[in-house]
Amino acid sequence: MALGANIDDPVQQISAGFAALAALPGTRVVARSSLYRSAPVGYADQPDFINAVATIETTLAPHDLLEALLAIERAHGRVRAFPNAPRTLDLDIVLYGDMTVHEPGLTIPHARMLERAFVMVPLAEIAPDAMVPGHGCVRDLATRVDAGSVARLLRVPV
Ligand code: AMP
Repeated sequence: MALGANIDDPVQQISAGFAALAALPGTRVVARSSLYRSAPVGYADQPDFINAVATIETTLAPHDLLEALLAIERAHGRVRAFPNAPRTLDLDIVLYGDMTVHEPGLTIPHARMLERAFVMVPLAEIAPDAMVPGHGCVRDLATRVDAGSVARLLRVPV
């Protein structure tokens, strides 16, 4: 699971995102990465993002999980103004075990995960041995992104 936020106290948004994941039915948060700061992708004239990833165990099927994530995003006030616009809380399914899903509205592994340092770097922190179906293990794949474009937050700003 990947989390991102860049407005309305992003660190707090990510922390609320972790809590919301943990509160989903049949779901347990097994691991959380550190928080990372990254420059915005696509539309540059907006604040930096705070990103993190989490590993969860869940009984929710992929589509049900996606619906639950969209509901959490709505509850956190996300407004889809335009693609890559600032967002209070963005939640993506990055991997779902070794499952591959290619359906309208849901692609797993996430279509852009391999090119995103703000996903691959935190993922390598908590799940280096995870396999990305058809591509290899996270540890190896993470060496292909520009790790310098994300900064791990050593102390969470208050
Ligand atoms: P965005 O939050 O801008 O990345 O886009 C969210 C939309 O992407 C959702 O409405 C989903 O239908 C779609 N989507 C496709 N694959 C995924 C995925 N693996 N995780 C989350 N959203 C996905």
